[in-house]
Amino acid sequence: MKKLLSAAAIAVMMACAGGNAMADAKNPKIGFSIDDLRLERWARDRDYFVAAAEQQGAKVFVQSADASEQRQIAQIENLISRGVDVLVIVPFNATVLNNAIREAKKAKIKVVSYDRLILNADIDAYISFDNKMVGEMQAQGVVAVKPKGNFYLLGGAPTDNNAKMLREGQLKVLQPLVDKGDIKIVGKQWVKDWSPSEAMSIIENALTANGNKIDAVVASNDATAGGAIQALAAQKLDGKVAVSGQDSDLAAVKRVLAGSQTMTVYKPLKLIASEAARLSIQLVRGEKPAYNSQYQNGFKQVDTLLLKPTALTKANIDLVVTDGFYTKAQLGIK
Ligand code: BGC
Repeated sequence: MKKLLSAAAIAVMMACAGGNAMADAKNPKIGFSIDDLRLERWARDRDYFVAAAEQQGAKVFVQSADASEQRQIAQIENLISRGVDVLVIVPFNATVLNNAIREAKKAKIKVVSYDRLILNADIDAYISFDNKMVGEMQAQGVVAVKPKGNFYLLGGAPTDNNAKMLREGQLKVLQPLVDKGDIKIVGKQWVKDWSPSEAMSIIENALTANGNKIDAVVASNDATAGGAIQALAAQKLDGKVAVSGQDSDLAAVKRVLAGSQTMTVYKPLKLIASEAARLSIQLVRGEKPAYNSQYQNGFKQVDTLLLKPTALTKANIDLVVTDGFYTKAQLGIK
């Protein structure tokens, strides 16, 4: 199977020997390889991305790896063999795509890293929200209601570079408070695949180990916050322990309204998706996208477009309605 795929990829590479000159600048073909479409946010990213790209004359082929690095590699090889002009990738594992990307570059295909940075590979661009800023917002959000006490750091997936950037931002806020003696970090763990059930069992164990004396859980996204809050609810601690998140998932926004989650972060997905579509098409057309940053990915300084997140609490929850992310009916408010 693998041999067949690479033979097909080689045939396409030969057909594309003229490189970008062969790319169809008017109607570019985009391959969108997404880690996991089973999650709410990525399905929305896909819908906004496809709509924006089609509006600009592109055709999009979407693949979901369902959290499997082998499947993602095979799907990228398949997109290469279909002759796409640009690959837009949400990596499951940041560190295993260098061979697949080398194949893409040989076929003169542009590569864009979407939301998560692909490490140690020759990518053309990176687009994301400022993840360090998201981490700072998460820590500030819980500190605002629990300025002192026992904190648990619930990290994201160890395979996701964002998880590390979020932790960096969280510690920028928390470390000075630890040094002052206001806060004690009683434990920290990464959550495999950002899994809610894994987050729940981590917090169950943390509560047992600390005799339920936990004041805040710095959760790195809404999925893991949901798992943590289930564990807290089993001890009747939901609403008493501060919990952060990000994504403004529908369930999380409802928890913020109900008071069991302290905050989430709003990242307008329509914005990242439409900017990514534009940037990818510009790369195919040989135009220079407007970047505002650069990130070192271990291979090169990668041109980056960073977008701004917004912290969301009960106080400014209207934002997700006025911005068209949800209707009032969806949130059950008038
Ligand atoms: C994204 C988050 C998302 C998480 C799990 C991260 O890379 O930035 O928005 O919640 O992955 O899918």
